[in-house]
Amino acid sequence: MKDAEMNELSDSEQEEVQSLEAELARAKSLSVKSLADAIESIGFECTRCGACCTAHHSGENNDEKTENAHEDETEPAHTQINNRSKTEAPAATAPTENGRVSHNNGSDDQTRTVSNQDNKANTDVAMESVSTSTSTEPHTATVFPDEVRELQATADNMRDGTADTDAHSPTEWRDVARPMPYGLDDENSTGTTFEWALQTDACGDCVFYEEADGVGSCQAHDNRPLICATYPFSVALGGTSQPMGEAVDTAGMVRAHECEGLGRDITREAAEELAATLRTRAIRELEEAISLRDAYEPPGNTDGIVVHDSEGAKRPDGTAIDN
Ligand code: SF4
Ligand code: SF4
Repeated sequence: MKDAEMNELSDSEQEEVQSLEAELARAKSLSVKSLADAIESIGFECTRCGACCTAHHSGENNDEKTENAHEDETEPAHTQINNRSKTEAPAATAPTENGRVSHNNGSDDQTRTVSNQDNKANTDVAMESVSTSTSTEPHTATVFPDEVRELQATADNMRDGTADTDAHSPTEWRDVARPMPYGLDDENSTGTTFEWALQTDACGDCVFYEEADGVGSCQAHDNRPLICATYPFSVALGGTSQPMGEAVDTAGMVRAHECEGLGRDITREAAEELAATLRTRAIRELEEAISLRDAYEPPGNTDGIVVHDSEGAKRPDGTAIDN
């Protein structure tokens, strides 16, 4: 943000802007060793239950999902299921609202992004599921613009390796991402929202999640979003996302969220690798929040859905809206 723009802000707005930059500096100073120590002390081994990649159905017994082990090489990304209901969405507001787009569901959910002055709790939402009238809560995990493009390329490569007769038709943006539902109307046809969520299938599961013979897997494992690669952990820094729900365990700067794999032995090598990715994610989320804040322009009279991300205002198909 330029000095002239800063000077036009109120004192509280200037503090918010500066705090985001301060949090980024803190993220960059995070020690991978310390994060790894924390992860090691909490313990984690993915059981490949798939719970963090799929929709939640009311009355669902999540324990049953543990029977769906995932093959090692296609371990499901660590997104998260959520039992919460869709609630008030954040309205598009000024870009200086502290740089975070929050997706508030009225509870303790998590996410990444830029906050919103209409967001009552200013909670960060990263992955969650949203209730529907059918009591199914689609899987919802935030994905950044460059991650969307990587997933498009991944999907293209997947199809190139099959007998798909439509293999030469590029995967579209909306094939892998959808507007974050917060801020949209009940039919998800109009409204203003921030950031993108991984696209879901008719069952509400992530489109990259597959099960065969009761075994689940992530078809985009090698290119899964950072939020997936670091689940069930988050870093206790303002402006970063938290997987859904309150932390069930903490150690140092690391928070652990609901996951049946917690408490299991983890090798030092695996803990360090996870810690390094967690640090990368924290930095990335804050950089994204800052870019979103700086790119934000009021939506104007645009019909339909407007999605604000770090690259500006877009349509649901990912194309830019010229203000
Ligand atoms: S990260 Fe946790 S919730 Fe996700 S598949 Fe592994 S064990 Fe299940
Ligand atoms: S991209 Fe992969 S790991 Fe992430 S939610 Fe989808 S299936 Fe799970």
